Amino acid sequence: MSPKKLYATLLSSFGPQHWWPAETRFEVVIGAILAQQTAWKNVENAIARLKQKNLADNPETLAAAPLNTIRSCVKCTGFYRQKAARLEKTAAYFAENYPTLDEFFEKPLAAAREELLSLDGVGPETADSILLYAGGKPVFVIDAYTRRIMDRALEKRFTGYEEARVFLEKSVPCNAGVFGEFHALLVELGKRHCRTRPVCGGCPVEKACLHSRRNQRLASGAGAPRQ
Ligand code: SF4
Repeated sequence: MSPKKLYATLLSSFGPQHWWPAETRFEVVIGAILAQQTAWKNVENAIARLKQKNLADNPETLAAAPLNTIRSCVKCTGFYRQKAARLEKTAAYFAENYPTLDEFFEKPLAAAREELLSLDGVGPETADSILLYAGGKPVFVIDAYTRRIMDRALEKRFTGYEEARVFLEKSVPCNAGVFGEFHALLVELGKRHCRTRPVCGGCPVEKACLHSRRNQRLASGAGAPRQ
């Protein structure tokens, strides 16, 4: 199965995912930082608390907020001291350097990516989530779900983040809308079926999935199935 076929199958099975669930570009930035090593439900709760205190509107208000207030809002996401500090620093950076976030996203993709990666606590996955979903830039987000599904369904393993990103960007039409939808669909597949222990029954790509097919062969012959 090709990535293109995987995308088409997931789209027809699950439908459009309407990502990223945020009202503003800055909310995407906040969400991408808070989403590190936690479930999305916790991110939603933290953003709701920030919104109650009017701290998610723009970088200026968040940068000016007391660190303890930010900490109390984001506590539910884990590593909250680190995340609160990262949020405050990122907000301060944008507030000091850009009159509006729109101005930042007018930069070419490579320059904007390099700048985001220079910020404390912003790695490739966070930077690319911001660029794709807040900036509408054509860059693929690689996360644990994406790597797991590529490994199982396509038996495609990567040596690192960049190799996976380039592979996926070349596998489907180079378009931010397609990249965003495909990534969101992979996350949905990872949550519904391709979990740490896969639930292959009912998975929309079960028939074409190399992992599932191999396990079925093994089950009908010799050897233990691969997890
Ligand atoms: S068939 Fe199983 S291993 Fe393959 S993508 Fe679906 S859940 Fe994952």
